Amino acid sequence: MKKMICKELGGTCDKELTAQSWDEMVGKMTTHVMENHPDVAKDMEKMHAADSQKWGAEMKPKWEAAPEI
Ligand SMILES: [Zn+2]
Repeated sequence: MKKMICKELGGTCDKELTAQSWDEMVGKMTTHVMENHPDVAKDMEKMHAADSQKWGAEMKPKWEAAPEI
């Protein structure tokens, strides 16, 4: 299990998200952003449309670096 903060994943708050895997973290962050940060969700959608690999390429190293909890 690893813990990341919304801000680390491109969001705007200090909400802690925990997940067993990167895929689970992506799902939790997506849900969190859509529910809490509609503006960020729009930006992420645009980013994803322009380059579907970009967000993951930027964020996954932070997941890899996060310590196991
Ligand atoms: Zn947030």
